[in-house]
Amino acid sequence: MYDDVHDLDYEQARLYALRQLKLLDTPPSESFDRITRLASKYFNMPIAAVSLTDADRQWFKSRVGVEHWEIPRFKACCAEVADESTVLVVPDMLESSTYRDSVLADSGIRFYAGAPLQTQDGYTLGAMCVLDTQPREISEDDIALLKDMAAMVMAQIELQHAVGRIDPLTGLPNRSQLAEDLDDMARDAFGRHHCALFTEVLDSSQVSTLNRVMGPTYVDELSRLAARGLQEVLGEEQKLYCVGLCQFVHLVEGCGDDELIDGALRLRETLLSLTLIREAPILVHPVVGATPVYLGENQPGDVLRTAHSACQDARLSEVGAGVYSQALDASHRRRFMLLADFRAALNAPDQLRLVYQPRIDMQTNACLGVEALLRWRHPQLGEVSPSEFIPLIENTPLARSLTAWVVYSAIAQAQAWHRQKLNIGMSLNVSACNLEEPDFAERLLAQVHEAGLPVSAIELELTETALIGQGRAAWQQLDSLIEAGIRIAIDDFGTGYSSLAYLQDIPAQVVKIDRSFIKGLDDTPRSRTLVESMLNMAHNLGYRVVAEGVETQQTYDYLESLGCNEAQGFLMSRPLEAVDFETWLAARTA
Ligand code: C2E
Ligand code: CA
Ligand code: CA
Repeated sequence: MYDDVHDLDYEQARLYALRQLKLLDTPPSESFDRITRLASKYFNMPIAAVSLTDADRQWFKSRVGVEHWEIPRFKACCAEVADESTVLVVPDMLESSTYRDSVLADSGIRFYAGAPLQTQDGYTLGAMCVLDTQPREISEDDIALLKDMAAMVMAQIELQHAVGRIDPLTGLPNRSQLAEDLDDMARDAFGRHHCALFTEVLDSSQVSTLNRVMGPTYVDELSRLAARGLQEVLGEEQKLYCVGLCQFVHLVEGCGDDELIDGALRLRETLLSLTLIREAPILVHPVVGATPVYLGENQPGDVLRTAHSACQDARLSEVGAGVYSQALDASHRRRFMLLADFRAALNAPDQLRLVYQPRIDMQTNACLGVEALLRWRHPQLGEVSPSEFIPLIENTPLARSLTAWVVYSAIAQAQAWHRQKLNIGMSLNVSACNLEEPDFAERLLAQVHEAGLPVSAIELELTETALIGQGRAAWQQLDSLIEAGIRIAIDDFGTGYSSLAYLQDIPAQVVKIDRSFIKGLDDTPRSRTLVESMLNMAHNLGYRVVAEGVETQQTYDYLESLGCNEAQGFLMSRPLEAVDFETWLAARTA
């Protein structure tokens, strides 16, 4: 069938083009059927079909007057149309040496006329054909009409293919197309080094602000203008993809990080200077992120993700352009993972636990209570520090469940100690957002009572900023807690940037001086002055003062000389598991 190597190559490329369109063996569709009906009617012939030439069969996407879906390719007239890419007319099959003994002739067909179904790239997929059971002649005009119908079929095929691959707003290929192209490129050049540049003209918060202020059509228009401007800068030859609102990607052949950054920066400069964007009554801050792509090794989804991640990092940096960093990405991913996994941790029996760090009365040397500190053993990541995961959770609805878990567990432990006649106060860390729960105080008090604990056994630690930056509802929660006899401690005192004048307004009984000040006591005179004045002021305002992070005897002695009430820190003990605390306490009182 194939004359030479060239023909074979063509046939392979042709089949590839056909398969790319994903038409073979798809169900009938009215958009094709109406063309075949029209053909049959117009030519007044019993049979019309849209026939696609697969490797060894003719498959009918649409047909009138034939029962079956496919016939063998061998000696099929449509196959000749596909091979020759020209119109084929067989006035009478019985007169044709080629087709006299074909499947078609055997089934009673005498006449055939077919026009090639040709893609824009010049591949003939098959034929638009009409057939009759009698020999016929066909005029030049009718042949022209058959060709028109073939063109209509092709338009339909290409349109259907484009839907879902073209961004309707900008007319640019979209991310499905990008994924497909990356796959195609990998087939041709597996492992070759390329680079994806991700340009984001507006970030999502700008998009939503603009949507709100100017309406969505404005942002659409901006995206269109940006697409045109970007294409202009890159040149018509460069394929540009639109992967989201005001988000574009293009691929360049491999280059090093420095070149990439240079390229990205130049691109950004040009974007900034585009008049079309200057016309917008807003400040547009385009950023460009670049990521290396090893064809076939990086999945298209990952390419988009890492390129966008580079883009987001670039937004945080001043230059506005950056190359994907695995380290930064890993930290984002870790944060995401922690956030995503915390809900499961709350329900797992063995991931979360509390440890307890003793607090010592400096006058009597007795342990009056402990601070409950949360620990998380992540199934994959191992121990995760609360200073890493709590700030993440605090901004989510899970903060409520986190504190609920801590309150429940700490009260259960306090109850156990109370039953053992151990007189140990329990200090709990609470986030600012917990005070916004309207039933926070009520629930806590109910649990304390139910456990048969004296209210005085419970203390809540809140940071200075949490206590000050609160609305009325939070103050009400605080008031009812204090009224019921729960103590409030100002945690991390001195680290908030609020004015000390506020101190007199905060409804609290205890001040915990942050360990950053305590740490410096041994060597820096400035720290001494600071701690001394904090202590004096807090005492003058009637607070009880706790020093956090006491690590040396020298610090301890100095704080004692200043009249500090309590000390907490590694010098006395690290945070301990409940049983270890009991042992520690027994050894101390023995
Ligand atoms: P924090 O409330 O200031 O807790 C004291 C932290 O200082 C604890 O860290 C403790 O292990 C550490 N520490 C105690 N003594 C010393 C010392 O002598 N030297 C040094 N270098 N460090 C000392 P941890 O347990 O890692 O907790 C970190 C932070 O996480 C806590 O700071 C608190 O803000 C938060 N957190 C812990 N548990 C909870 C909780 O149950 N709920 C809430 N909302 N936050 C919690
Ligand atoms: Ca604390
Ligand atoms: Ca603290």
